Amino acid sequence: MRDEVRKLLVEQLKDAYSAEKQALRCMQRTAKKATAPALRDGIQMHIEQTQAQVERVEQALEKLDARPGRKVCEAMRGLVEEAQHEVEEHDKGPILDLVIVAGMQRIEHYEIAAYGTDIALAKALGETEVAELLALTLEEEKQTDLKLTEVTERHIMAEALGGGGEDQAGASRKGATKGRDA
Ligand code: FE
Ligand code: FE
Ligand code: FE
Repeated sequence: MRDEVRKLLVEQLKDAYSAEKQALRCMQRTAKKATAPALRDGIQMHIEQTQAQVERVEQALEKLDARPGRKVCEAMRGLVEEAQHEVEEHDKGPILDLVIVAGMQRIEHYEIAAYGTDIALAKALGETEVAELLALTLEEEKQTDLKLTEVTERHIMAEALGGGGEDQAGASRKGATKGRDA
């Protein structure tokens, strides 16, 4: 049975490898479509993190004497397809920024779910190094999700609701900040 669980972890990691590669390509295509500089910077930062995440999955597989192979993550394919279609329906601006965030957060949550399972499997098998590698990635995915919410609140939502008007946007932003600190 132990071998079966180990095989399962390897399959899950092959899936994660495919998911990361697909997410990477999606973000590379999407980054230039974002308007808010904070969103563009956030995507760029996560592109760089994702490149390291791909390498971590490779390292984790290596520790388990396996290789990425050709498995395709079908869920990520669907998430990317849906995000891509929705992005194509909008011109550049705050609404498109919201659409980009919506797509990215769905992707982050899929990754958070997958790595949570993978870490639990690795721990159960006593594969501490694998669990530690994946925990670094899981933390980045969680932080990215939080950051997307923060960027939306601070830099996108006022524009999206107000339809321009710097003063109105500024006032809403202050209100939002106050609300969060309270
Ligand atoms: Fe990732
Ligand atoms: Fe998958
Ligand atoms: Fe991610």
